[in-house]
Amino acid sequence: MTDLSTLEPAIIDPFGRMVSYLRVSVTDRCDFRCVYCMAENMTFLPKKELLTLEELDRLCTVFIEKGVKKLRLTGGEPLVRKGIMELVNSLGRHLKTGALEELTLTTNGSQLHKFADDLYKAGVRRVNVSLDTLDADKFAKITRWGQLNQVYRGLEAAKKAGLQVKINTVALKGVNEDEIETMLNWAIGEGYDFTLIETMPLGEIDEDRTEQYLPLSTVRSRLQENFELTAIAYKTGGPARYYEATNKSNQAKGRIGFITPMTHNFCESCNRVRLTCTGTLFMCLGQDDAADLRAPLRTSEGNEAVSKAIDEAISRKPKGHDFIIERNQAPSVNRHMSTTGG
Ligand code: SAM
Ligand code: SF4
Repeated sequence: MTDLSTLEPAIIDPFGRMVSYLRVSVTDRCDFRCVYCMAENMTFLPKKELLTLEELDRLCTVFIEKGVKKLRLTGGEPLVRKGIMELVNSLGRHLKTGALEELTLTTNGSQLHKFADDLYKAGVRRVNVSLDTLDADKFAKITRWGQLNQVYRGLEAAKKAGLQVKINTVALKGVNEDEIETMLNWAIGEGYDFTLIETMPLGEIDEDRTEQYLPLSTVRSRLQENFELTAIAYKTGGPARYYEATNKSNQAKGRIGFITPMTHNFCESCNRVRLTCTGTLFMCLGQDDAADLRAPLRTSEGNEAVSKAIDEAISRKPKGHDFIIERNQAPSVNRHMSTTGG
């Protein structure tokens, strides 16, 4: 007979998928306004609606006790949340006990120069930095409010601190499609992994998404003219499928990942759920169903009610999203990526 007391805790959804990865949007605010992510005039949540850092820590801890092994802080821009290092330092205790295998974050890099050393000290070893172009003017246009130099400064600081970097690039038709090869060569040269993402129909933005959408199947075929792409088993616990990329002219090698929510359904192996800064749990990035964890958190001192609410939510985790990008089509969900956490 199996001794149940020795089994690791695990959260399993109705389709037998183990939920081991929690993404937490610690703020919906950001110092950029990327054209595919946000409208220029955004209404953000009143600050009083936000969970405190202690409450976020408590919720994350319940997830870790239930079997979450990987935790990603995101947003909005996680590094603009006041006091963010208190949360990172506090969550770092779960790395020390081994309950958590990885604590990481996705950032636009603008504030990374201030935080890189402290992140490393707290136990963070890898960061995802979102960067869609290496052209300063184009960067200013895509992010509306950002400056490329600031991101370079953050990347330097990350390298110096010993953080491994993965560059996340959203493939945008007519905007950066001509630069993808240059970016891959640059990432290989710098020792960064490089991941491309298809734009998803999340939230109202000022532009037409059909104008932005570039299927990664097209990008991959184009890259194959000058790069040998060999599928590899490398996994980071996220949705990317990885290839070893070898530049055919100089044999330089690096890793490239493809995140293809539109052209290839990445849902079958989904191991993730997403928590917002108000304590709402989304079981799928592309569906509206959600569970409120704030009420059980605030109405009881112990964690039993929260744990029960999580189990109940996971029992409703849907099989997948129904993203469609077509002209005159409303976004698949009304929330922006910055609300749910990318
Ligand atoms: N501000 C941080 C950053 O930009 O890295 C973290 C939050 S941002 C919402 C997380 C990731 O989502 C970024 O890599 C961004 O490029 C991506 N993203 C935002 N909106 C998207 C969309 N509609 N489709 C695909 N990716 C999107
Ligand atoms: Fe901000 Fe990240 Fe959205 Fe850009 S993608 S607006 S940096 S949250």
